[in-house]
Amino acid sequence: METKTHQQLHIFFLPYMVQGHTLPLLDIAKLFASRGVKSTIITTPVNAPLFSNSIETSKSLGLEIELLVIKFPSTEVGLPEGIERTKLVKTQETKEKFYKAITALQKQVEQLLDQHRPHCLVASTLFHWATDVAAKFGIPRLIFHGPGFFPLCAAMSMTLYQPHMKVSSDSESFVIPNLPHEIKTTRNELPTFLTQNGETGLNKMLEVCRKAEERSFGIIINSFYELEPDYADHYRKVFRRKSWHIGPVSLCNKAEKDISGRGREGSVDEVHECLNWLNSKKPNSVVYICFGSLSSFSDFQLVEIAIGLEASGKQFIWVVKKEKNDEEEWLPEGFEQRMEGKGLIIRGWAPQLLILQHEAVGAFLTHCGWNSILEGVSAGVPMITWPVFADQFNNEKLVTQILRIGVAIGAQKSEDGSVKTEASVKSEAIKKAVTEIMEGDEADGMRSKAFALGETAKRAVEEGGSSFSDLTALIEELRSLGS
Ligand code: UDP
Repeated sequence: METKTHQQLHIFFLPYMVQGHTLPLLDIAKLFASRGVKSTIITTPVNAPLFSNSIETSKSLGLEIELLVIKFPSTEVGLPEGIERTKLVKTQETKEKFYKAITALQKQVEQLLDQHRPHCLVASTLFHWATDVAAKFGIPRLIFHGPGFFPLCAAMSMTLYQPHMKVSSDSESFVIPNLPHEIKTTRNELPTFLTQNGETGLNKMLEVCRKAEERSFGIIINSFYELEPDYADHYRKVFRRKSWHIGPVSLCNKAEKDISGRGREGSVDEVHECLNWLNSKKPNSVVYICFGSLSSFSDFQLVEIAIGLEASGKQFIWVVKKEKNDEEEWLPEGFEQRMEGKGLIIRGWAPQLLILQHEAVGAFLTHCGWNSILEGVSAGVPMITWPVFADQFNNEKLVTQILRIGVAIGAQKSEDGSVKTEASVKSEAIKKAVTEIMEGDEADGMRSKAFALGETAKRAVEEGGSSFSDLTALIEELRSLGS
């Protein structure tokens, strides 16, 4: 009989239902599979199409990777059918039910673990029950938070020291305590769950998640050591979190289909249009603007962006999550005609990896979601930072104050989802930031630094690199548990 040490390692992956988790966890599952591990991703029917194409490509390349689809417990919690992604959750009431559904998924996952008996369960933070469920089967649970070391350290310091309780106004700046650098913030920049008193569903759930984290085997981080060495050390030594950095994980997408189709559920026609457009442009001449998968702006704000872009005189690709049949009040009159050939508006899902990696792209105006930051870094592109909510204000500080490969647009307040009656960032600020990142000596300096960091990122995931080695160490440790 084969001994356990020679058995192929089999890992289950359970990504939270947002693209900021599904995409990197799919990449992580592929990375493990590329090292001879059998990877199985668990998801629900509405989310399954996000994985299917990429899994097929990986399989055709010989990787052992599977998708298991379980039912989303909508009826159990009183949610309408189909609301299986946070993007589709619009009201507070639905939000609370959605969190209940996340908890109710436990039963089915438990059954799958019983049936397949994998050696490890990697689950996003919000599946707080995953640690105990894994323990029931005698296997380790690894956590995937999403953000990198710097935002995780900043968030832990905030929770531990509560410095925001000691200032007298939302705009008074204070230092985030006990970090390797002096990092200032304001209450305005904090996510609402930190500033909100009381027992909201999310707050209670986060507390349970924190407790589960302490009992978990460790944490997988989508980052590379050279990007944030002080914070990788701080997280491990000061906060005593056992963790492995294995990123940038998006760099595992090497096949053309994987790069252009990442996260795409529909046709690839838009991709070809976008690529042809980029191919007609000079190197470093285009600004790419995208606010991730969740953020959407008011029409007031979109008008300001349009005016700012036009005034900058630079070429751009602008991703606007607006359906075609929406009234076009958000575009200044004649904008599209004037911008013909100069600007491309993408209304749906942008092939972000393909765009960022194209030599025509000279800067990235980003909402500072962690994946976007890391993808910008990997592509060696300087950034304009426009944080909107969650950890994004901290991610901005990493880019502009520590790495110094970007300029801040000047966003000052975390969005709370309320209806806006005016734009918070004006066209002048947009024009100024675009000009600053594209022209002059300082722009050249940031571009060279960003390029060098991009090369370091690529080396980190190659054989012998820091992330490659940490993934090897993690796989060996998981194997040793089975011996
Ligand atoms: N993304 C994309 N096309 C889009 C919007 C987003 O490919 O039109 C991808 C992007 O490359 C990133 C992820 O979706 O990998 C978004 O994650 P991020 O952490 O940047 O932001 P979030 O959407 O979670 O706010």
